[in-house]
Amino acid sequence: MAKKQFKAESKRILDLMINSIYTHKEIFLRELISNASDAIDKLYYKSLTEKISGISREDFRIQIICDEEARTLTISDNGIGMTQEELVSNLGTIARSGSLDFKTGEGAPAGADAEAIDIIGQFGVGFYSAFMVSKEITVVSRAYGEENAWEWASQGADGFTVKEAVREAAGTDIVLTIKDNTEDESYDRFVTPWQIRSLVKRYSDYIRYPIVMDMEHTRKVEGSDADGAEPRYETYVETETLNSMVPLWKRVKSEISDEDYNNFYKEKFADFEDPLKVIHTGVEGVVSYDALLYIPARPPYGYYSRDFEKGLQLYSSGVMIMERCAELLPDYFSFVKGLVDSQDLSLNISREMLQHDRQLRAIAQRLEGKIKSELEGMLSADRETYEKFFENFGLQLKYGIYDSYGANKEKLQDLVLFHSSKEKKYVTLAEVLARMPEEQKFFYYAVGESLDKVDKLPQTELLKDKGFEILYCTDDVDEFALKVLGRYGEKPFKNVSEGDLGLEETEEEKKKAEEQAESSKELLTAMKEALAGKVADVRLSRRLKTHPVVLVSGEGLSLEMEKVLNQMPGADEKIRAERILEINADHGILPALGKAFEKDPDCVKTYAELLYDQALLMEGLPVEDPVAFASSVCALIEKAVN
Ligand code: ADP
Repeated sequence: MAKKQFKAESKRILDLMINSIYTHKEIFLRELISNASDAIDKLYYKSLTEKISGISREDFRIQIICDEEARTLTISDNGIGMTQEELVSNLGTIARSGSLDFKTGEGAPAGADAEAIDIIGQFGVGFYSAFMVSKEITVVSRAYGEENAWEWASQGADGFTVKEAVREAAGTDIVLTIKDNTEDESYDRFVTPWQIRSLVKRYSDYIRYPIVMDMEHTRKVEGSDADGAEPRYETYVETETLNSMVPLWKRVKSEISDEDYNNFYKEKFADFEDPLKVIHTGVEGVVSYDALLYIPARPPYGYYSRDFEKGLQLYSSGVMIMERCAELLPDYFSFVKGLVDSQDLSLNISREMLQHDRQLRAIAQRLEGKIKSELEGMLSADRETYEKFFENFGLQLKYGIYDSYGANKEKLQDLVLFHSSKEKKYVTLAEVLARMPEEQKFFYYAVGESLDKVDKLPQTELLKDKGFEILYCTDDVDEFALKVLGRYGEKPFKNVSEGDLGLEETEEEKKKAEEQAESSKELLTAMKEALAGKVADVRLSRRLKTHPVVLVSGEGLSLEMEKVLNQMPGADEKIRAERILEINADHGILPALGKAFEKDPDCVKTYAELLYDQALLMEGLPVEDPVAFASSVCALIEKAVN
């Protein structure tokens, strides 16, 4: 019989699997049991929604057979089964396409096996993981409603065969021929009944259908030791149900260990790391539900991409009715994984109906509140973990503030963290507000590419000098979020690069400023003319200490927002923030310019251009004409030397 080849990508994963030195090879069992349980779910769901008679929940079971002599381990289910085509397409291709691109790309640890471990972990490669322990796998399956069964067989990477077979009823048998022991690894444990039993208990206890296995026991033959005779023993076989069958979310919290929660999470949501946080919650009332929610320790693959789909698994009285119900999570909490089980939902609920379903909306609302309060609790009780969370998902919260014109800003404003000029660590808005000096009228913030760069911004000098705390914004979305927030605790947000910093001046300072402005009036006007079309104004400033000039913006759009907006896809027409060139009134450059202006009013033109270009550079903006800039600097040097 001709062998069919695996798809190229699947073949590579298979190779990795077969040669894997992954230390938790036993996870293959939970993967196969979980597939079996899903297959039963599907058939049960079908029987309920299509009102098929003759199928009863009590008849479903997953059976495990250990044959130590033949060295086989069989996992059988009476679920929905697979047709011939399904066998080929489901088992011939790895389910999660694109996984290899990712793995061989950046961030993958070096070495083939590290790669394999990562794949096993990240994508829970399901069925294929059985190749870690098997030299041959045979799958016999009969789809529900079909007369024929089919057998799929493979010894690994060189392909698989499919031929007709016999099976009494719908369902699937997965027969693994377990590898021989090697020097490094004993595979015997995968055909030893008591070891298999403990693996099932450990990883699959919550599976809601019975997992049964025939266990051999020994007992004394009754009466054999009568009259002081040597007792005789006999073996007998008993079918045991290995799992407790209570879904994890239905169990009493105090009886669930962290390991239970974490194992369930990793198996169900294909993660290889324990979650950062588990939220197990239930409500009885007008709507009743149980929910088991997880915050992952890291953003899932592709989290910040457009293709990412949020959602929770949805169950109706223990029957899964939807793999990913987006309506249950707001976008800003889209990182949450988990499931909701409610008896108040109809089995037949369709996608369209979901949006209007009152029960579902009520559940979503309560879950949102719960997630929010759990995060707030974490922020106040376990700052370190919260900061880890925020490193990963803070961006999403900030988008949440900005989204929908700020409709959710009040909910989220106390969950966001910023770096600040005072402490080189995260602060909340409430913390900054609490220690704000009385004379500080605004929440100041500075925007830049990195904390280091922001910290060096000339615009921050004066404010720092006054002892004012400045929020440091380094993500594109930061300033947009702050603009949408508008104010916090009655204090408006203000960019340190804004023209007017809203500082109070003493009478003396005001007078001095007016005098200086008056005496430099002609100079400033000449400079403004020289820079016509580039800046809206040239004026003196007291916000600077050591720097000669700075660019600031008028009200509204800031220079940083200009950068972000112009980088967005589709931003063909460039947006421009209003620019104002400020000259440090206390810097030596001012009298020098004054002198030059007296001698030769025309030369100020070049100087104005130079200072403007310099200010652009400091702001991280491109100089409009680099060649002209370079020649002017050269000319200046020549002049100084001659
Ligand atoms: P995943 O379960 O993550 O989709 P797998 O590689 O484990 O990936 O399985 C691939 C597909 O094969 C499943 O999605 C399912 O459609 C099918 N499958 C696997 N095991 C069974 C089974 N016991 N009964 C029916 N279908 C199955």
